[in-house]
Amino acid sequence: MQWKLKSCPRCNGDLFIQLEIDGWYEECLACGYRKDISDLVTTNALGQVKMKGPIEAEEKMNADV
Ligand SMILES: [Zn+2]
Repeated sequence: MQWKLKSCPRCNGDLFIQLEIDGWYEECLACGYRKDISDLVTTNALGQVKMKGPIEAEEKMNADV
């Protein structure tokens, strides 16, 4: 399971990323906010979750070092 801390647009709470039958969702435990983020998530050959956007950019920066 992957977490996005303090990313909830409603309550600024912690979101977790989970795979459901019809795609990827981010969900907030605190307020119940839920969003389909299938377009933002990819998995590699090892089944590891990759988020597009800022998180991926950070990984690229680290890889350059
Ligand atoms: Zn929330």
